[in-house]
Amino acid sequence: MRTSVVGYPRVGALRELKFASEKYFKKEISVNELQATARNLRSTHWNTQKNHGIGFIPSNDFSFYDTVLDTAVLLNVIPARYRNLELSPIDTYFAMARGYQGANGDVKALAMKKWFNTNYHYMVPEIDDNTEIRLTGTKPFDEFEEAKKLGIKTKPVLIGAFTFLKLARFTGEKCEKDFTDTVIWAYLQILTKFSEMGAEWLQFDEPFLVHDLTDEDILLFKRLYTAILSVKGTVNVLLQTYFGDVRDCYQEITGMDFDGIGMDFIEGRKSLELVKSNGFPSDKVLFAGIINGKNIWKNDYKKSFDIISELKKHCSHIVLGTSCSLLHVPYTLQNETKLPEQQKDYFSFAVEKLGELKELKEICSSQNPLETEEYKRNINLLGKGRKCSNEKVQQRVSKIRESEFTRLPEFSAREAIQQKNFDLPCFPTTTIGSFPQTAEVKANRTAFRKGIITETQYRDFVKEKIFECVRVQEEIGLDVLVHGEFERNDMVEYFGECLDGYLFTEKGWVQSYGTRCVKPPVIWGDISREKPMTVEWSVYAQSLTKKPMKGMLTGPVTILNWSFPREDISLKEIAYQIALAIGDEVLDLESNGIRIIQIDEAALREKLPLRKSDWDSEYLNWAIPAFRLVHSGVKPETQIHTHMCYSEFTDIIPAIDNMDADVITFEASRSDLMILDSLKENHFKTEVGPGVYDIHSPRVPSVEEIESALHEMLKRLPKEKLWVNPDCGLKTRQYAETKSSLEHMVQAARRLRNEAF
Ligand code: GLN
Ligand code: ZN
Repeated sequence: MRTSVVGYPRVGALRELKFASEKYFKKEISVNELQATARNLRSTHWNTQKNHGIGFIPSNDFSFYDTVLDTAVLLNVIPARYRNLELSPIDTYFAMARGYQGANGDVKALAMKKWFNTNYHYMVPEIDDNTEIRLTGTKPFDEFEEAKKLGIKTKPVLIGAFTFLKLARFTGEKCEKDFTDTVIWAYLQILTKFSEMGAEWLQFDEPFLVHDLTDEDILLFKRLYTAILSVKGTVNVLLQTYFGDVRDCYQEITGMDFDGIGMDFIEGRKSLELVKSNGFPSDKVLFAGIINGKNIWKNDYKKSFDIISELKKHCSHIVLGTSCSLLHVPYTLQNETKLPEQQKDYFSFAVEKLGELKELKEICSSQNPLETEEYKRNINLLGKGRKCSNEKVQQRVSKIRESEFTRLPEFSAREAIQQKNFDLPCFPTTTIGSFPQTAEVKANRTAFRKGIITETQYRDFVKEKIFECVRVQEEIGLDVLVHGEFERNDMVEYFGECLDGYLFTEKGWVQSYGTRCVKPPVIWGDISREKPMTVEWSVYAQSLTKKPMKGMLTGPVTILNWSFPREDISLKEIAYQIALAIGDEVLDLESNGIRIIQIDEAALREKLPLRKSDWDSEYLNWAIPAFRLVHSGVKPETQIHTHMCYSEFTDIIPAIDNMDADVITFEASRSDLMILDSLKENHFKTEVGPGVYDIHSPRVPSVEEIESALHEMLKRLPKEKLWVNPDCGLKTRQYAETKSSLEHMVQAARRLRNEAF
């Protein structure tokens, strides 16, 4: 039996790639130095996998920013506005990823979207009527060669033709169908080239197949692959799926000329059943994803062994693999010096998962699997049970009453009271919460953590920053202010640290987009709040201004979605535990004079099941109530805001309205304004602040640009409901661009107020 890895983290155990790239952006290192870092990382990653005896080691899973963007560039899908900058190839690539503002021009970045149900983001390929899809890049071939020179024969990985087309955005008249021939032709060439180069296996990632598929989708898939597979030559083609099961196309894909099919047995609820009831072709290899690529708990060998035993009855050739790319878990436990051994024992990061694959392979190849040391050790550990429960929390959750899910009085009554009380101008301006986390701010936190400065020194510094932040906002002329979140490393980690039941890693970074990584905390036990978490900062900030100061909290669904969850109780139960804790904080803020409270649900959309049929029953039925539980206890005068990253909730607008917040801010600047049409169609009641500029890029928007965005918005939204704000928090930005951008935003709002409506 052999083992396979779908994809491997590329940023490096200590985020080497992030730091090198950021230095390159600032022109502190040359492109050669950046390339050298990348090469070293690739070599380390391939060798680590080799040392764990992995049979199918991926290549081309490396990326400077994102592999979907890599695929677009490989296929010549580079919109003219980036070509026209006439930059070097790598700078053109980064311009697509991050936008560009400089001597050669001024363009925005491509749109960015969440990668299926993960917290990773991909760049959306943009195809217009002039796009000529053809193979122009060499990255996959170069990396295959590079590994080969190191003595490692890899399995090149590419985003498959179907998923690529499905994720692309067509900006002209033409659509998918108009590009199938050229796409086929490009993939044919890729196959031929790899065949010539002596690759044995090629992996096409087709996660789009785990969605609910239409007949047209299936036809498109078949058309693409019937053609592509016709020139396979000596290469074996692996169709890799993940993040769910392939129930809509199992028959079709097993009937086609693939040599291997990769299925996810962790998230794919129906995967095992599909194989059992339909069988599996004896001439194909099943790449069984049994090591969870998304969570950090140790694999349950008994469970895995049972699945493999069952699969063996139906499949002649099985390769053991990860359920998806290991990109979604931190690099290694070896750098965790603070986690107690008893707890560390239960976890497994990317490198340790390679070890699990190796052990499982040995167990499965043994005469007496259940008697192997590895197996017995695992059973012993997991059989012991963890000490992590809190009786009081469990009781509180079990006693939640139905009425606790509803805020009274209903929306319009509250809206009237609030409009009168706050007396804000038309088109009120605000920001999403954080202000730039400068080197100074980070250094202050690090110094405190390392014991170099005292708690008082640390706090005084944060207060100084809040003071400056309030002054800056007043100078700019914003209407609803924020304290700036200088005490927070991250919007979820901060609350995790204040709550009981959480564990933290030191180096457990996971790539979120480009050079941005997050360090998700781990939910170890029942969650509770021991004492107020944010009140002191918010009250201090409010004392500095007459304008309303927003209290700033992270909502339960986002805290849950951006943590590594436990697997021994339901997600609903975890969400309710967190909701009760955050709800206590909301009431404390209110009783301390904070009149506007923002509860961020940045990640609410993220864990929406990929199949529509599961949306309500598997998710919305507890996620929306969890949010309502947090704020149902406040007075009618208190205004509840929520914020969501990305505007991809066109399809769940009624659910979002049903969160029953008073105001919602979200991203609209990077995507087109379609979301606004659906708000209108759905008679959205909540007031809205569709972000007027993109904070993911350093570019400063002009007043005119913002004004025209606002005009577009006003075509679809009543003017009483429109708020004016950037599309997300400002923590990743620098002060200079932040100030200019916000000044332009405030000026745009003022111009609008002076126009007659
Ligand atoms: N309040 C948070 C901030 O401004 C929200 C961040 C987010 O939406 N990701 O940083
Ligand atoms: Zn956001």
